[in-house]
Amino acid sequence: MSERGQIRRILPPHRRIHARLRTKMERLRIDAVVVSRYVSKRNGDEKMVFGIKKKMIAASLAGAFTLSVGLGASHGDAAQADRECVAQVALLQSLAQGYFGGTVTAGQLRTLGDTGIGTFEGLNGEMIVLDGTIYQALGDGKVVVVPDKEIIPFSNVTFFDKDISVKLSQIADKAALERALNQAVQKHGVNSFYMIKLHAEFPSILFRSEYGSKEPYPTLVEALKDKQTEFTEKNIKGTVVGLYCPSYMGELNSVGWHFHFISDDKKKGGHVLELSLQDGTAYLDQTDKFAMILHNDKKFHDLNLAKDMSADIRSAEQDSYAKQ
Ligand SMILES: [Zn+2]
Repeated sequence: MSERGQIRRILPPHRRIHARLRTKMERLRIDAVVVSRYVSKRNGDEKMVFGIKKKMIAASLAGAFTLSVGLGASHGDAAQADRECVAQVALLQSLAQGYFGGTVTAGQLRTLGDTGIGTFEGLNGEMIVLDGTIYQALGDGKVVVVPDKEIIPFSNVTFFDKDISVKLSQIADKAALERALNQAVQKHGVNSFYMIKLHAEFPSILFRSEYGSKEPYPTLVEALKDKQTEFTEKNIKGTVVGLYCPSYMGELNSVGWHFHFISDDKKKGGHVLELSLQDGTAYLDQTDKFAMILHNDKKFHDLNLAKDMSADIRSAEQDSYAKQ
């Protein structure tokens, strides 16, 4: 069906005339359908792309509009509103069970945010999204820019706005950083999401990545046992990107803070296990909307996502020393 045909199918002629007067939500639905047809033609993989778009329309007003913005369609006032949404691909619990594949791509992720964290197909390294670029910190310590076709099994992104600044000094360790940030969270509202960006010189920082696994994939804990690599850097300049999930997110993600790091020269990075900081300013983006984008394949639907994976997730977030 042509793009015009899609619009006709959704809206009869007498309503099309009044398109400008309709609610924002209705207009966004049209945008999303038109854009999804365009993407489908370009990618030649209509079924997958269209399936994701439909979910995005159903899941969130925000998701539908960022899609069109990301593909170069006109910016509008709804695009501004959409900046206030944390988008999550799948669940940390699906990742914990070894679902390391999926149907969402890096190109699609970039339409949902310019800042965030996550991982890649096969659990092949740690993701840092900064200023609209998706970086992959690999198991051997190298960092690469990710092509749009890369599969993203799990991620959280948002369009970053500096809502809150937190002055930091004499931060001895990661727990101290979390305490300082939690004071701001307490003040502004513990039940929001917060994305953080902290650019500083770090006297010391310990981060990890991991080599990818091949199918059939092991669980997250098993994959990290064999493939995790850890790196300590001294006096390195870079940016910590992190996410705070509120207490009710325990079955979809992990509660509290999760930090990734990338150096200024974009050559080093990973999942932060420990750090120290003399002084710096953390910027927080307080976000009150949340959208989930689920994978749509048999393996995803075969997962029992009611299973309690909290012990595995706690284990996966620690360094090898803490596990001993
Ligand atoms: Zn991580």
